[in-house]
Amino acid sequence: MARCAADAAPQTTPPARPERTCVGCRRRAPDIDLLRTVARPRVPQGHTLVPDPRRVLPGRGAWVHPTAECVEQAMRRRAFGRALRVDGQIDTEPLSALLAAL
Ligand SMILES: [Zn+2]
Repeated sequence: MARCAADAAPQTTPPARPERTCVGCRRRAPDIDLLRTVARPRVPQGHTLVPDPRRVLPGRGAWVHPTAECVEQAMRRRAFGRALRVDGQIDTEPLSALLAAL
């Protein structure tokens, strides 16, 4: 007897998107919705926060929604330094410039 083709509904699991936490609003979001940033040592001292939209830069990354709101919130709370394990001043100018251009 033919097996009843009880529509074995194909289990289409949605592709697993890695989630990240925005350092600004602290909400979790799919990584595609967030902008990766990394800290680059700056001469003679301190660090520069560099946007890494293509996610190719090595090292620890901090993720943030690419909005002025979240970036400002993260700056106010010095969340970038914490997330990136960087002490002292971080120059966020390149990130601000990128946001201004969006
Ligand atoms: Zn956010």
